[in-house]
Amino acid sequence: MTLAALGWNDSLAQAFAPYAAEGCEPARVTLELKGYCEVTGEAGARLGECSGKFIHSAKTPANYPAIGDWVAVMPQPGDPTRVAIQAVLPRRTRFSRRAAGEEVLEQIVAANVDTVFLVSSLDGNHHLHRLERYLAAAYASGAQPVVLLNKADLAGEADTEEIPREITQVAPAIPVFVISAKTRRGLKALAPWLQPGQTIALLGSSGVGKSTLINRLMGDQVQFTQEVREADHKGRHTTTQRELLVTPDGVIIIDTPGMREIQPWEAGAGLAAAFDDVAAVAGRCKFRDCTHTVEPGCAVTAALANGSLEPARWQSYLRMLRATAHEVRRVDRPAAQQHKTQMKKLTKQLRRRVHEKSGDE
Ligand code: GDP
Ligand code: ZN
Repeated sequence: MTLAALGWNDSLAQAFAPYAAEGCEPARVTLELKGYCEVTGEAGARLGECSGKFIHSAKTPANYPAIGDWVAVMPQPGDPTRVAIQAVLPRRTRFSRRAAGEEVLEQIVAANVDTVFLVSSLDGNHHLHRLERYLAAAYASGAQPVVLLNKADLAGEADTEEIPREITQVAPAIPVFVISAKTRRGLKALAPWLQPGQTIALLGSSGVGKSTLINRLMGDQVQFTQEVREADHKGRHTTTQRELLVTPDGVIIIDTPGMREIQPWEAGAGLAAAFDDVAAVAGRCKFRDCTHTVEPGCAVTAALANGSLEPARWQSYLRMLRATAHEVRRVDRPAAQQHKTQMKKLTKQLRRRVHEKSGDE
């Protein structure tokens, strides 16, 4: 497998350069197991364990490798099946949840997802009310959300036209597609998001058709060909399903139980809370209408320069704003507020719709 087929690109190569100089190889995390991971690179799939030095400096759960991460690995002399993970390369996007425990800590569920398909179904099973939650998770991640309304074959004409229109009204920049994973209706239109080397993930309630869609994208290959063997504590071999799949067309799919159950890690609060820290920084700029580019007294440029604000996080904040409002010129609290209002409106409309259909909420 080539690195490009796994989603490698120039900016990763740049970030990797210092590790290459130390004799490391790049690899992508293709499966997370207890305490170690499977990493795949030019040498194929190997078991990766975090080096002692890495563990010493990692400090918080969010710094540990997660599915989809690119890592710098050191081959182990005498054991071609194992590597030591020395570093996690900067993440372009990340899905998080709250780590188990008392403290509020971020844990990464999936990294470097380019596009996230928010899958809902049109068959009257009322999954639409979860869309807002998934949208918030998508925005917080930095991945581009695309809404898929599946099971069009079971829906009436009215639903296949009206529901996409409602979503588009409140979230104009989000592409919405009516599809049927069963009949393949509408799948060709997804081509722009299904390019070789692109990483996608699917979010949506159980039963909306995510597995069926993945099977379609996999060319209906049986998924157990992707299983890997893992030795448990008792030395037995158990099979685990690989969590990072590559379709015959070269699209990378991340499919983990964690992704399927995701909620924004900021415990129920939506988007505004997800970006509270960034908005707080932007709120400290000297000028109210700061564009965070050339202005004196810009808190954002200062925070980016001194490392207290991660460039990736800033970028995902900008993307989030861009995705929801074409006209946003200033990145500040009012913009975040406006987005929150939009989200409320969307939720309300979707709830009403669910209510009308089910008559019980
Ligand atoms: P998941 O839980 O989101 O992975 O959903 P599945 O892929 O397991 O699908 C749940 C059920 O819906 C299965 O019985 C599928 O055959 C069915 N299903 C999935 N997509 C479609 C579709 O486009 N049309 C119809 N009629 N059924 C579908
Ligand atoms: Zn500024």
